[in-house]
Amino acid sequence: MGYRYQAVLLFGAPGAGKGTQGSLLGRVPGYFHLSTGDMFRAMDKGSELGRVFFEYSSQGELVPDEITVDMWSRYANALTVLNHYRPHQQLMVLDGLPRTVRQVDLIRDHVDVACVVHLVAKDREKMIQRLRGRALKEKRTDDAKEEVVRNRLDIYDRETRPVLDRFDKSLVREVDAVGSPGSVLRAILEVVTPVQEARFGNSLES
Ligand code: AMP
Repeated sequence: MGYRYQAVLLFGAPGAGKGTQGSLLGRVPGYFHLSTGDMFRAMDKGSELGRVFFEYSSQGELVPDEITVDMWSRYANALTVLNHYRPHQQLMVLDGLPRTVRQVDLIRDHVDVACVVHLVAKDREKMIQRLRGRALKEKRTDDAKEEVVRNRLDIYDRETRPVLDRFDKSLVREVDAVGSPGSVLRAILEVVTPVQEARFGNSLES
């Protein structure tokens, strides 16, 4: 087996705050935030892959597993080559992957999962409100329609939730997703700081 990225997975339903928390955590030295949703949205909409993404995401559907993981591994590699992401100094904060059991198997050779942070948000209606509010603000076409949002949540229950059972229970830590960004970040840092230090020491080089 070749080199594997050391990663903490940010896991949770759409609207739980993975993106917000991932980008906050990514600003802390020693962490690098990588979101597959952001990766897809950054693609040229006129390209072949850009069109494939739009076709699925506009319905709230997942992009097929092989395409997603292939794209993600090339993206992570490019970020490494460009020295944006430094795998020997930074813990990858992986947001939005894996989202299916098949993706767990596909990334196994590339990722060493140090910890899974499960952002738990029990109130489904609140999640829907949050997603729709964000859609208006960020002009996200996928979450602008209520039926698309509901589809995303159904797919999460059906395809993504079972991913949690594929990880050793000792790796999975639940964090309450409800609260101010600062208080949720504090709870996440309590979980991930010891993991980051154990793997990379506490130097300030990064
Ligand atoms: P997100 O911003 O994480 O909610 O992702 C937005 C959209 O990108 C999703 O609804 C999917 O269409 C697509 N996407 C992101 N990550 C994945 C993934 N791991 N597998 C399949 N599709 C994904």
